[in-house]
Amino acid sequence: MKRIAVLTSGGDAPGMNAAIRAVTRAAQERGWDVLGVEGGFAGLMAGRMRALGARDVGGIIERGGTILGTARAPEFKTPEGRQRAVHELGAHDVDAVVVIGGNGSQTGAHALWKEGVPVVGVASTIDNDLLGSDITIGVDTALDVALENIDRLKVTASSHQRAFLVEVMGRDCGYLAVVAGIAGGAEAVVIPEVETSPDRVAEELADAYRRGKAHALVVVAEGASCNASTLGAHFKAHKERIGFDLRVTILGHVQRGGHPGAFDRLLASRLGAGAVDALARGEQGVLVGLVRGQVGTTPHDEIVGRTKPLDLELFRLAQVLAS
Ligand code: ATP
Repeated sequence: MKRIAVLTSGGDAPGMNAAIRAVTRAAQERGWDVLGVEGGFAGLMAGRMRALGARDVGGIIERGGTILGTARAPEFKTPEGRQRAVHELGAHDVDAVVVIGGNGSQTGAHALWKEGVPVVGVASTIDNDLLGSDITIGVDTALDVALENIDRLKVTASSHQRAFLVEVMGRDCGYLAVVAGIAGGAEAVVIPEVETSPDRVAEELADAYRRGKAHALVVVAEGASCNASTLGAHFKAHKERIGFDLRVTILGHVQRGGHPGAFDRLLASRLGAGAVDALARGEQGVLVGLVRGQVGTTPHDEIVGRTKPLDLELFRLAQVLAS
């Protein structure tokens, strides 16, 4: 192994920079060169790569986002697109690629590996829907951002007889919503994995007031069918019958933008260095993740096209603790 390329792909996640830094420095320690690919798979197909040295990745561990940029690159799903990437990797003398990203990105990494390129993935997405890692880079910081907002909304919710809704990201996975609900002390949680109805949510919030609570707050996952817009419209249409207002806050991309916290910096450092170790051992076509608390690898074959199921015990816990 002489030269590796590293890229970030899909949605950015706080901690991606720490992972780039770890890959670069761990590779350099082994005497390998590192090329940083700009703009994910789109940059790979266009051959946009620059040398990364230890000093180039200084001062980024505390920064959110990704210094390499990321992109959605649908063309990479075509064999022609991937062949262009294979050609560029050959032209740049790259021996292996590290792909930092979530589910879609790991599917892309797997497809590239099937084209004959040694590839190792690093588990990074705020959605935490990736099999092969107990938790992924960015989740913890996104949760902290959600909590900061929830805590503030609870203060104002306690001052008025108004219910609050906070919609968090997570695509079709309710993990972020359910842990934000538990840690934020929400009165109700709505996730894609458990069907509910707007009336049922209204009833749960009304019940919280009846139990003597000063506030009623529901955390909703963006992927739930009963999401912010459905619930907002329902409360507006049935305000008289429900008896109180619902104020809607959609956190959206604010959640991605935080400075990575200690947990994500450490996780990204371990997984980034773990990716280099895996390549040095001759492993490829694998995802590097946290497996039962340790850095471990799982073949991409076993994880692509699937998503990590939510532990429904967490949902039950959110319900019990909302009493
Ligand atoms: P997040 O869920 O955190 O936003 P992600 O990695 O799941 O991140 P996606 O947009 O799903 O983000 O995928 C990122 C990129 O991965 C796509 O733009 C595409 O270039 C590549 N990709 C996704 N699916 C495939 C596939 N089936 N084959 C080849 N490449 C793919």
